[in-house]
Amino acid sequence: MIESILHKMLTTRPVIAPGHVWLVGAGPGDPGQLTIDALSALRQADVVIHDALVDDRVLALARPEARLVPSGKRGGQPSVPQTRTIEQMKQFALAGMRVIRLKGGDPFVFGRGGEEVLALAMEGIPFRVLPGLTAGIAALAAATIPITLRSVNQAVVIATGHAAEGNGSPDWRAIAKLGQPIVLYMAMARLGSIAEELIAGGLLPTTPAAVIASATTPDERILVTELGKLAATCEERSFKAPAIVAIGDIVSIRQQIADMLPVPAQRLG
Ligand code: SAH
Repeated sequence: MIESILHKMLTTRPVIAPGHVWLVGAGPGDPGQLTIDALSALRQADVVIHDALVDDRVLALARPEARLVPSGKRGGQPSVPQTRTIEQMKQFALAGMRVIRLKGGDPFVFGRGGEEVLALAMEGIPFRVLPGLTAGIAALAAATIPITLRSVNQAVVIATGHAAEGNGSPDWRAIAKLGQPIVLYMAMARLGSIAEELIAGGLLPTTPAAVIASATTPDERILVTELGKLAATCEERSFKAPAIVAIGDIVSIRQQIADMLPVPAQRLG
């Protein structure tokens, strides 16, 4: 029954035409967080140009005949230059292949997806974008941290700790003054200076903070601390990228719930 429902869903999704490129969000890691459309695209593509961050369990869902082409950046490690990735997408598309560019999370959240579709549009190559679950929201939810809580916040700041060269970094002091929770991507290398600036901008060093590393993968680790101790605790406990950092009172609910449970739930343990 479930097989036939899944089969029907997968076979009635849009079809990738030869020569088209689809930018597909792979979600944060666990294949269970792929969309049906993303899975359907993986089952159709001739070529999958994928980020380093895309989980092997997701790549394993591509057609066995599909060509897997690694691309994209991973902090501090050698990576394929962006121009080369764009060039590859064009070449495969012009050769009449069905191409997917598979990106971690959502293709348009800190993932250079915008630059890639612009380049494709400029070449007249047809494309489509399939959204994915972004790590900044999904990692928090999986760790029982709601990104909005009616009693706490009416907005949230989503920021990168690693701005592109020449783009400067965000004005952390101004962000602190908004008084809204902050969710950081790519911030592990600069946690100390970001926390200092946020505190200089008015956030209390005791503001709750959480780090969720390798969310939804077998390597997932979660740390809950305070803003003032964030960098030192991450260092001490060897928390590394990829990680999402959440700062603000939304973080506290995780502990509140853990305290209520007679037996710690697995994800809260
Ligand atoms: N497009 C992606 C983000 C790409 S930037 C998205 O929407 O999620 C890469 C950063 O995303 C990492 O440095 C980390 O901050 C975050 N990230 C991606 N996958 C993650 C995961 N499984 N766990 C924690 N953080 C993750």
